[in-house]
Amino acid sequence: MQLTERDRKYIWHPFTPQKNMVIPIPIVKGKGALLYDDKGNSYVDAISSWWVTLHGHAHPYIAEKLYKQALQLEQVIFAGFTHQPAVDLAERLINLLPEGFSKIFYSDNGSTSTEVALKMAIQYWWNQNEGTGNTKQERKNKILAFKNSYHGDTFGAMSVSDRSVFTLAFHDLLFEVIFIDTPTGDNIDDTKAIVHKHANEIAAFIYEPLVQGAGGMKMYDDYLMNELLSTVKQHDIICIADEVMTGFGRTGKIFASEYMNQKPDIICLSKGLTGGTMALGVTACNEKIYNAYVNDDKLKTFFHGHSFTANPLACTAALASMYLLEQPQTHEAIKWLTKENEIFRERIINGYHLICRNVSCLGTILAFEIALGKDEYLNNISSVITEKALAKGVYIRPLGNTVYIMPPYCITKDELMKVYKTIIEILNELN
Ligand SMILES: *Cc1c(COP(=O)(O)O)cnc(C)c1O
Repeated sequence: MQLTERDRKYIWHPFTPQKNMVIPIPIVKGKGALLYDDKGNSYVDAISSWWVTLHGHAHPYIAEKLYKQALQLEQVIFAGFTHQPAVDLAERLINLLPEGFSKIFYSDNGSTSTEVALKMAIQYWWNQNEGTGNTKQERKNKILAFKNSYHGDTFGAMSVSDRSVFTLAFHDLLFEVIFIDTPTGDNIDDTKAIVHKHANEIAAFIYEPLVQGAGGMKMYDDYLMNELLSTVKQHDIICIADEVMTGFGRTGKIFASEYMNQKPDIICLSKGLTGGTMALGVTACNEKIYNAYVNDDKLKTFFHGHSFTANPLACTAALASMYLLEQPQTHEAIKWLTKENEIFRERIINGYHLICRNVSCLGTILAFEIALGKDEYLNNISSVITEKALAKGVYIRPLGNTVYIMPPYCITKDELMKVYKTIIEILNELN
């Protein structure tokens, strides 16, 4: 049997309608920004394989480090034991993160990193009250989140994500969340009023800083976000920045939170953390959060963990990725991508304003909406565009009618120009 037939027989793919499923393309090799299929075709991976790949596929430096680590120690229980890759990585992350972060809690993907953050924040308030006789006082246990947000697919992460076609079957089981709009000049005062009104019951505010990824790469203003954050912090609400997508240079700075003066108390990281090589999640917190767990009362322990917490291979991949991220050529590549995206944005605005809306870019991310078809996720413009692009040797996967690119930083000039040219050709065909 062919690989694709065996795939069909045994596998259930993510986010994929199973009836009349499009036959997946067998990928046999990756190198730099390129993916190769079993027929020898190559595709420029313009979305970094769901936003994870930073330095290119099958990077030899990361592969070498992984091989050596696999021969040394592949996995060990992380309660009662520790190991060098986990400690080295935690130290390195603390130095890289905005000032004030002091502890790293490991898990193994983006959804778990946000679950951990939510539990850490909720129990932070529980720990303050439990055993003090204050338990009757109004509980701070609500979460504040943005409309159109996405924080993952597990139940807690789903609860704090906006209700959408992704979550439809589960709405009655998701916990209650106070949703507010991302800030604009028009709504900022109303939004602040909502925060003031509910401040006493809100434990934490979770947000994707400056770019809402799965919600359609929607970007919002850093100045207004800073203003909103300062209102939130004024009420002693724990701020959780979900940088699972925006972390590690995507927005032009190492972390999107660097665009704001008001810093979060907790940051969630995954995706680019290992350069896209291994599954790893990190929830970093400041001393204020951590101290609430340093207690004689064992009930105030953070009872959370995963089998693969701080997996040594994943930590090793992350350390290798971080080394590559710190190389001057990576910084130049991010700057260059930022500049090219801005030029391309102008080109779309000037030439294609009739079919392209909300053309925006921030750092290495560029996005626009196609003003065709129904304005929702389930229309088929996305698969039409994906197919057209694949035929031209480029891999993009629009979110509904939002076309976006987020290439690995190692993409060459020729490859990037091929991505832009392909998008223009598709726009001409749709026009
Ligand atoms: C992808 C993503 C997640 C979920 O990460 P997974 O590793 O897919 O579970 C959470 N938050 C944001 C902002 C993301 O982009």
